[in-house]
Amino acid sequence: MALPVLHLNEIPNEGLSLSCDVHADDLALGPEDVRIPGGLAMSVNAVKAGTTVHVTGTLSGTARRQCVRCLKEYDDALWLPIVGEYQQDADLKSKPAGRESSERPGEDEGTDDEGYVYTGEEIELADMLREHVILAEPMQPLCHEDCRGLCPVCGQDLNVRRCECREEQIQSPFAVLKQLRETVKGQAKRTTKMK
Ligand SMILES: [Zn+2]
Ligand SMILES: [Zn+2]
Repeated sequence: MALPVLHLNEIPNEGLSLSCDVHADDLALGPEDVRIPGGLAMSVNAVKAGTTVHVTGTLSGTARRQCVRCLKEYDDALWLPIVGEYQQDADLKSKPAGRESSERPGEDEGTDDEGYVYTGEEIELADMLREHVILAEPMQPLCHEDCRGLCPVCGQDLNVRRCECREEQIQSPFAVLKQLRETVKGQAKRTTKMK
């Protein structure tokens, strides 16, 4: 089922409530953006003031993620507050020297906090909802805040049990880098000698 489209003249003065299920496809979200196998539940309220429409509500569901430390897949509950303000494009054009023409001319439209533009009478929610989902994605997903991750030596999941590797073998990334640099230097010397 496609995402419903709001029509300006179908929004009564007291506002319009809308609830439906939203699938990743409806929001053009691919598995590289977020995995939501069960889809999301959308519940929004649209209120209009002239031709400006304020949309508020929530998106909720379950995202499947992979922990960056232990690489295990886990389910993450999503509950995203939704806020969007839609302005009719005809309205924006008639305004003399709006903020988007005077300042920051290089920026794309839609990067203004919660501002979105609609054409004619139809307000499409997909782009706005998509942005909310993408912005809420964690940069470093963790199955638990204190996930111990994998042993860098033997690959044992340290959440399950500790391994036999000695502590000193577990090096910091900086130590590894230093060692690598010394190895490369040594190789370079050897190559020079051979000439
Ligand atoms: Zn983990
Ligand atoms: Zn180990």
